[in-house]
Amino acid sequence: MQLDFKGGSGEVGRSAVLVNEEILLDYGIKPGDYPEYPLNGIFPKTVMVSHGHLDHCGAVANLMDLHPEVFMSPMTSRFAQILGKDTLKISEDRGIPTPYDERDLQVMAQRTRLIDAGESFRTHGYDAQFYDAGHIPGACGIYLEEPDGKSLFYTGDISTTDTRLVGGAKEFPEADTLIIESTYYSVDHPPRRETEERFIDSLYDTLDIGGTVLIPAFAIGRTQEIMLLLQSEGIPAYVDGMGVRMFKEMMEHPDSIRNPKELGRAFENATMVTGAKRKQVELENSVIVTTAGMLNGGPILYYLEKLYDNPKTKIMLTGYQVEGTNGRLAIEKGMIENNDRVMHLKPKIEQYDFSAHCGEKELKGIVNHFCRNGTETVIAMHGDGQSTKDFAEWAAETHGVEAYAPENSETYIVD
Ligand SMILES: [Zn+2]
Repeated sequence: MQLDFKGGSGEVGRSAVLVNEEILLDYGIKPGDYPEYPLNGIFPKTVMVSHGHLDHCGAVANLMDLHPEVFMSPMTSRFAQILGKDTLKISEDRGIPTPYDERDLQVMAQRTRLIDAGESFRTHGYDAQFYDAGHIPGACGIYLEEPDGKSLFYTGDISTTDTRLVGGAKEFPEADTLIIESTYYSVDHPPRRETEERFIDSLYDTLDIGGTVLIPAFAIGRTQEIMLLLQSEGIPAYVDGMGVRMFKEMMEHPDSIRNPKELGRAFENATMVTGAKRKQVELENSVIVTTAGMLNGGPILYYLEKLYDNPKTKIMLTGYQVEGTNGRLAIEKGMIENNDRVMHLKPKIEQYDFSAHCGEKELKGIVNHFCRNGTETVIAMHGDGQSTKDFAEWAAETHGVEAYAPENSETYIVD
């Protein structure tokens, strides 16, 4: 089996692994002012997509001229369409060219065969199956078996922890080779319940003194999880931004979430805000959940514009803040930039670990499981260079298997 690493190796973003020069696992972008794409020169017959985050699905539409077979879960297909259109719109607004257009997105939707977790399928002589990966609704690990019987499992982004929104990954196949993400190797996440308790206590502290709580949250997954948490406490909130649209999409695919009824209630009991109604949102002593999760665009900037000067306000970040984003700037320097204007933030800023990825302990658990069941090669990717290398070294030392942390453009032959 030949594996070509075309993106997402030793980095987070633009994931792309080519198997035997014909089956492509993920094809994402590295989002930024100028998005980065995987290395070129690939001509896959088949593309399989693990989940609907841009760094895994954002470049698939570029490949439509090759007429590949495309496989995604139904939820992933919807997210890929919405994010694809959103990227086109943002690029157009900023005058940045994109390698695909609206028509390519339509062709992608037509070419995509929708596969649920647990379902097996065939493509060009390969057997394949999707496995529930936790992480976000619709996320799947991918099992692939060559015509001669050699097999691999690709985790995509994975979490074995149950959250209020999605159940963790529980079932895995046996496979000769494991390609596993390494995003949070060297990090151990605190128990979810603990994070939730600290989050709610702090939120009440602010409400009790008459302040307003701003909760920036990613559109897919985090917004809905936070709304479920607020619902469980009976805390009324406004919810604004793309997370509302994604909530509606999830309700169309109830199998992809743990408790659709409860999620429905969480949004019904909240006040859903659309652009025109934003001005009516009560900015004193309220809770506002909105995108963008890293403060780079979206309605959060409108609210920050109104509240940046108010020391009774609290900003509760709910996810990792990538370097170079406003969120990181806010944590490190207490300021953000919006349209070349610098805003010094008077609100208190806090950050909570609601990670949708395995931490070190869970990642090791997955490798242990696979190696005990016959896996002979472990490949770590989708993390920073050093911790990914550490992970591979740990796997080799612990299990006596071949283990690699490839770099982009490298090729491995696994026999
Ligand atoms: Zn992801």
